[in-house]
Amino acid sequence: MRTNTTATDANPTQTGPNPAQTGATVPDGEQAYECPDCGRPFAREKHLALHRGLDHAGSLDEAEREAFYEAYDEEEAEIRRFRIVALGALVLVYFGFLFAYAVFA
Ligand SMILES: [Zn+2]
Repeated sequence: MRTNTTATDANPTQTGPNPAQTGATVPDGEQAYECPDCGRPFAREKHLALHRGLDHAGSLDEAEREAFYEAYDEEEAEIRRFRIVALGALVLVYFGFLFAYAVFA
């Protein structure tokens, strides 16, 4: 007789808090920037400005919108910097293999 064991006995029911949602807390003792709209704490003022621009875009005044665009531009510049560094690393690895091939082959 063929026993048909399914994955029902290994039931991976995940109860408890979602780490993606609870991970956004700021450690005690550090200055936190709290969102005035939803009360979420942020470690950096820039992150709060980004959050408010994305989640509460409708309730921003002129200065807050300005802060959001500023933080957003900064973030974009950081991403561009990261891409350049990643590309440089890729080129280095490529030429590393090329030289290794030229030497050992
Ligand atoms: Zn908020």
